[in-house]
Amino acid sequence: MTTQSKREKAQAKQQAALEKLEQGILDITTEADWRQYLDFHSKFYNYSASNTMLIYGQCPEAGHVAGYKAWQKLGRQVRKGEKGIVILAPCRKKVEDNKTGDEVWRIFGFKTATVFDVSQTDGDDLEETDIKAQTTEAELYRNLKAFGEAQGFKVLEQAYPSSYGVCIYKPSGIEIRVDPLLSVDLRASILAHELGHALMHNADEYREHSLTSQKELEAESVAYCITQYFGVAKDQKRSFAYITCWNRESDQALEQFKASMSVISKTVKTIIEGIESTASNESEALALA
Ligand SMILES: [Zn+2]
Repeated sequence: MTTQSKREKAQAKQQAALEKLEQGILDITTEADWRQYLDFHSKFYNYSASNTMLIYGQCPEAGHVAGYKAWQKLGRQVRKGEKGIVILAPCRKKVEDNKTGDEVWRIFGFKTATVFDVSQTDGDDLEETDIKAQTTEAELYRNLKAFGEAQGFKVLEQAYPSSYGVCIYKPSGIEIRVDPLLSVDLRASILAHELGHALMHNADEYREHSLTSQKELEAESVAYCITQYFGVAKDQKRSFAYITCWNRESDQALEQFKASMSVISKTVKTIIEGIESTASNESEALALA
């Protein structure tokens, strides 16, 4: 095959993946659709938003995906005839940083890559990895509070008029208040929501947000994924009202929605990794004590 046609083939594959991704997003038209996507996202939180959507669109039951060779290393073989799941992989190159002169990795576009779900493979049993961290509501609340404080936010159990939780943007920093009279599971869920706002939105964006706004969708989605991931999902009557009033007609709207998916995904990852690294430091400290 000539280089030209190889490149054309690669571009066509990439275009098809991007179209699949956009179709997947446009197919989310109800709050239930979005909730289902977020359930999936909670399992694949360490993938980018685009790849989570691509995997979800092609294999909604996926539990654990890896490339062909990665499965072989895990002692499993992809079955003959299985159709791979196409995702996007960044093309990275080492370049010199203009300011520091250090060598750093930069991303130059994307190429497609193929992965397979565990259900498409045979072989050794996978080592049981504790994908879903089980924790109690009280632990989650404590961990979220410690995480927020480590980010420099003040987290107080203090009532605020007509609100279960609030972010107050002060010149000295962000103060989050959670109503102390609420049950601990609600407090955890509300704190996750407010932390989402504090990490994703500035004071103006926060002030303007309403129940049907995109900013509210972002905070609700982060809180949903966090409580789902930690297995504390009693209160999942969340409002994703923006989904039903989102105007899908314009390209700009699609780009804005993709931006939301990306910021939700990054924030969920930051919170989960922040909590898990503190938790593992604590258990190491206990082990050494
Ligand atoms: Zn909110």
